[in-house]
Amino acid sequence: MAAFLELSTKARMPLFGLGTWQAPVGKVGEAVKCAIDLGYRHFDCARYYKNEDEIGSALQQKIKEGAVKREDLFVVSKLWCTFHEKHLVKASFQDSLSALKLDYLDLYLMHFPMGFKAGEDLSPRDEKGMVIPSSTDYLATWEAMEELVDCGLVKAIGISNFNHDQIERLLQKPGLKHKPVNHQIECHPYLTQEKLVHYCQSKGISVTAYRPFGAHTLKPGDPILLEDPTVKEIATRHKKSIAQVLIRFHIQRNVAVIPKSEKPHRLEENFKVFDFELTKEEMATLLGLNKNWRDCVMAHCVNHKDYPFKADY
Ligand code: NAP
Repeated sequence: MAAFLELSTKARMPLFGLGTWQAPVGKVGEAVKCAIDLGYRHFDCARYYKNEDEIGSALQQKIKEGAVKREDLFVVSKLWCTFHEKHLVKASFQDSLSALKLDYLDLYLMHFPMGFKAGEDLSPRDEKGMVIPSSTDYLATWEAMEELVDCGLVKAIGISNFNHDQIERLLQKPGLKHKPVNHQIECHPYLTQEKLVHYCQSKGISVTAYRPFGAHTLKPGDPILLEDPTVKEIATRHKKSIAQVLIRFHIQRNVAVIPKSEKPHRLEENFKVFDFELTKEEMATLLGLNKNWRDCVMAHCVNHKDYPFKADY
């Protein structure tokens, strides 16, 4: 099984990468350096995570040391929802690019199809705690992202958290210059996203799975994927951890996966997923655990005109 996905641009994206959401400043740099030493080459970042500056310093240090070459890295960032107005897109991209201390990015994603009111506050809320939307249309935001490709600042652009109808609308946009090359979505055995993954792959849009371990901050009633007895049984059979099986599950679907850890022993554990193979039956069993259970529901956005998670897929 190849360790890369070929994008529609013919660029190669490592199937395995490091997530950096909630990787705190003061720790994330060490995690990135440790990951590079272990062999990680794909880094998933975002303006919203507020840690790109430290990630950039770590990448620079490793490039300077000769531990890795820029061209062997695959660095991703994302446009946050408060920067959807066309005139804000390039400046926000440039902020990420300069924080990451690079002169181009490999992939830039629209973090959500929803635009929020522009301003300092990245999560503007009304008195009821609901998000304050902007009137932007993600099709116009996409045009501003296309310009970043045209001026050579990013190799490719993609999307995140779109539903199938929203992708279809984007693909049908009159004058579409650059198709999305990648769609980053929540995906794990409790939310297998079979229809969406199949739809994207059929359109030449690669898929990246985020939150591969399921529930992040456990709320009462959340199912705990990292303790699932069926996954545990499969892991025991292969003398692997549950986390390793949950990562391997995506690789065998040709879906990229970006688990986050700031702990060296887990960074190492999560990377050791290329020395075993799940059987067809085990893959079917894992797919059979689906309960369409989503962790990242963005409940404060349910009234947004472009809220993506009400659609069937
Ligand atoms: P995740 O990677 O599924 O889980 C991260 C959590 O699992 C952390 O608490 C981590 O703790 C723990 N962990 C890591 N390795 C482990 C192991 N081997 N055994 C047990 N626990 C382990 O969740 P995520 O961070 O939400 O998702 C991954 C990445 O996807 C993010 O970091 C981000 O880059 C991206 N993402 C994107 C979106 C989007 O809207 N596009 C949304 C969410 C996430 P330690 O750090 O303490 O090890």
